[in-house]
Amino acid sequence: MKFNNSFLDQLEPYSPGEQPRNKNYIKLNTNENPFPPSQRVIDSLTKFDFNKLRKYPDPDTSKLKEVLGKKFNLSDENIFIGNGSDEVLSLIFLAFFRGKKILFPEITYSFYSSFAKLALSRYEKIPLEKDFSINLKKYNKNAYGIIFPNPNAPTGISIDYEKIKSFIRFNPKKLIIIDEAYADFNSFNCIDLVQKFKNLVIVRTFSKSYSLAGLRIGFCLANKSIIKQLARVKNSFNSYPVDQLAEMAAVTAIKDNSYFNKIIKKIKNNRAWLEKKFIQMGYNFIKSDTNFILVKPKKKSAKNLYLYLRSKGILVRYFSYPKKLSSYLRITIGDFDECQKLVNCLKINKEDDFEKS
Ligand code: PMP
Repeated sequence: MKFNNSFLDQLEPYSPGEQPRNKNYIKLNTNENPFPPSQRVIDSLTKFDFNKLRKYPDPDTSKLKEVLGKKFNLSDENIFIGNGSDEVLSLIFLAFFRGKKILFPEITYSFYSSFAKLALSRYEKIPLEKDFSINLKKYNKNAYGIIFPNPNAPTGISIDYEKIKSFIRFNPKKLIIIDEAYADFNSFNCIDLVQKFKNLVIVRTFSKSYSLAGLRIGFCLANKSIIKQLARVKNSFNSYPVDQLAEMAAVTAIKDNSYFNKIIKKIKNNRAWLEKKFIQMGYNFIKSDTNFILVKPKKKSAKNLYLYLRSKGILVRYFSYPKKLSSYLRITIGDFDECQKLVNCLKINKEDDFEKS
């Protein structure tokens, strides 16, 4: 007897970047932060009273809501917290886009189409401009909602604040989801718009800028009626998505602002250094507002360069699909030593000579 629900055949599961178990690679393939979490986070985890683990965590993650509320000048009624922003996004799709139409860019975070299939949403992918930027004018279409990351992934390009603001203002009947997974690496974000617009949801994560990908904490900020509806869906699915250790680590991480600023600055400096090196080496790349860069090898195929770097112990992300992306590699900004090793590897082989070696 084979148990099979034909609905499952229609799903399109997301494939995350490789997390190697054995070999110690320089990991520049999943946009993780190269720096450790704040020492205050490490100390709080080390000193944690493990007897507390007998009990369930706070289903409302109230302490984290309190510090996030203070940071962003919002009430706890404007905040929803989940097990990574992937979970928050999946609950947004289930809560608001079930059976509805949603628009997102043709090249973007590929999980959006997986969420849409799971939530039985209809979706339309909107083409990017030639330079890979998003043109919001193309989104003036009939749809229930829109989702895009700002900056976009994996292009690293952001849309200007003013353009976003006027788009939201002129589309009051569309639910607009801005995924700000990488916004801390940019020079601005759209969080203050949450108080101005009832049709806006901003999604955020602790995985990138706070170096806590392994603990799985994400959240979103929105009007309180949206947050209430999300909580209804969450409580129909999992009452306790955020565990005690994760909540405590996130609370402590938010409070250590000076460490946060320090590592963001280092990543931005390394990004500027890498971009300079790519120019010197003759690589085409897209100027990035994030902690990764989309790079195009000169003559060699992106796949061969990916395989070559892998053989040298450096993992980067190669996408065989969509086709327009398959001639690029997405390279996460590492610490300075990792960036230097990457550049040395590319220099030694001059990339185009690799085929002969
Ligand atoms: N949004 C974007 C654009 C991402 O690249 C990622 C990371 N893969 C996420 C959301 C999810 O991040 P997390 O679930 O770790 O919070």
